[in-house]
Amino acid sequence: MGTGRTSGEGAETSAAQQVLRRVFGYSSFRGDQSAIVEHVIDGGDALVLMPTGGGKSLCYQIPALVRPGVGVVISPLIALMQDQVDALNDLGVRAGFLNSTQYPDERRTVEAQFVAGELDLLYLAPERLRMESTMRLLERGEVALFAIDEAHCVSQWGHDFRPDYLGLSLLHEQWPHIPRIALTATATEKTRDDIIQRLGLDSARRFVSSFDRPNIQYRIEPKNRPERQLLEFIRTEHPDDAGIVYCLSRNSVEKTAAFLTENGITAVPYHAGLDNRTRAAHQSRFLREDGLIVVATIAFGMGIDKPDVRFVAHLDLPKSVEGYYQETGRAGRDGAPATAWMVYGLSDVVQQRKLIDMSDGDAAHRRRLQLHLDAMLALCETVSCRRTGLLAYFAESGPPCGNCDTCLSPPESWDGTVAAQKMLSAVLRLDRERGQSFGAGHIVDILRGKQNPKVLQHDHHELTVFGVGNDLSDTEWRGVVRQLLASGLLAVRGDYGVLTLTDASAEVLFDGRRVPLRREPERASKRSRTAPMGKPTAPDLASADLPVFEKLREWRAATAKEQGVPAYIVFHDATLREIAARKPVSMAQLGEVSGVGENKLAKYGQPVLEVLAEM
Ligand code: ADP
Ligand code: ZN
Repeated sequence: MGTGRTSGEGAETSAAQQVLRRVFGYSSFRGDQSAIVEHVIDGGDALVLMPTGGGKSLCYQIPALVRPGVGVVISPLIALMQDQVDALNDLGVRAGFLNSTQYPDERRTVEAQFVAGELDLLYLAPERLRMESTMRLLERGEVALFAIDEAHCVSQWGHDFRPDYLGLSLLHEQWPHIPRIALTATATEKTRDDIIQRLGLDSARRFVSSFDRPNIQYRIEPKNRPERQLLEFIRTEHPDDAGIVYCLSRNSVEKTAAFLTENGITAVPYHAGLDNRTRAAHQSRFLREDGLIVVATIAFGMGIDKPDVRFVAHLDLPKSVEGYYQETGRAGRDGAPATAWMVYGLSDVVQQRKLIDMSDGDAAHRRRLQLHLDAMLALCETVSCRRTGLLAYFAESGPPCGNCDTCLSPPESWDGTVAAQKMLSAVLRLDRERGQSFGAGHIVDILRGKQNPKVLQHDHHELTVFGVGNDLSDTEWRGVVRQLLASGLLAVRGDYGVLTLTDASAEVLFDGRRVPLRREPERASKRSRTAPMGKPTAPDLASADLPVFEKLREWRAATAKEQGVPAYIVFHDATLREIAARKPVSMAQLGEVSGVGENKLAKYGQPVLEVLAEM
């Protein structure tokens, strides 16, 4: 087994480095990549925890190319295998896959290639490992390594458990000397331990990267007219970009997609209520076209490895910080600036609390859901750096990031103790004196002294708290309620979202507990109209180079269409951007651009130079 490593201080580059340059066209490894690749080339087992976009694929692809034999990749993402294999073929790497979507003769061809050693990489769906025939096939060829992608699927703790993954322990028993590399972007400790235990990876070396995604700008804004806010956000910051918009319900997915389309923005819906064909077609368009928006429930996204998603927007609150992290993480895999944008308001808190109340499962289960939601709410209400809060969830610490809304324009906090006392005592009085409970809107009306029909009907203008809250606006009061709910000082109950006190309410009412609150910006979206916070799509591109970039994009779209592959498989945006900036005039110069490997240069070099020459 050749390690391909040369001795001697930097005298020569390693085999891995050469493959990185020649095949992938990249000049250097990122983060832990180099250490991981060398470790696996040397025959070691590895557990790799790296965020989305961190560059996990190279960690097994390069060792597979350097070691003799075929790298066998176990992946649950069957729908993406064709694209993965197309991308590798386009790089000149010999790759194939075996899954249930194939015709038997296609499968036989791939099997023959594997046995003959004519493949560098073979992608396998996990359920194939349960088949005796697959095990026999693997015995007939030479395996360079086993890569277990999306390794969290082996864990019952994850949200994506696949029973077939349990069969993976067989690999080690059968091939104890072939290195295994398990990779995942799911970071919680429980999941991590479960992967190690179930795959028997106790002696594997662990590579844990930071889960920070510095190129993603995190922003959470007050929700008032969510669809309008979304439209404004897209128009001002991401006019021609690909993005994902998440909504809670199928109905709001449909409505939002229609609203965007009516307003001249190309958007398609995606949710579990659509038939398979439509869903697959919309996903495929998203992957293949430039600048398409998908409006989706969380059914969409698992394994979407489109590198140039420029924004992820949430119109409804995710149920947990982990969900939020996974969903927003689909933006900016290519490392270029991207935005995670969310609108959030009182209705979200009420709705999520209600969903938990109505959920199946025992009290312990509901309690867990509560804790998840509380962590998410704390992230929404924080007056400190969002990123710091997010990373704390993964037990990472760091200084304020400078690239989230709270860092960029720090929110003010104010002493909301008196306001909280007014609100809580209104709830208390209605309950004690009248045995009544009401939703937030009505209680705010009472505090603000509004003599509307509902107030008069219930004689609520006679309550001592009537009109004591005129110092704050409706919006501000809703902010108070939202934050009290978020911090558990108030609770909602039942279908109508009526407010009730909690044990902690008494601390505010009677024990002098202080309540610091976040100030509500009166007009949240105004700022973004005048000065968008998000960076433009191509920050490192001078405006003079933009037409060149657009021309290259057009060429890429046409080329990709001709070949029936997603545009990013031809070249990534980052590569096109660099070409537009450097304007190479020879094949040699073009070959120096990051992302232009040997094969791509031979295949696309001339046409790209021609596009440039026409400008
Ligand atoms: P992950 O699977 O961890 O989400 P990928 O393997 O898809 O990430 O890589 C994310 C992006 O980063 C891809 O576009 C990939 O080509 C690019 N990339 C990975 N490693 C490097 C590197 N060393 N230099 C430049 N680009 C890289
Ligand atoms: Zn920050």
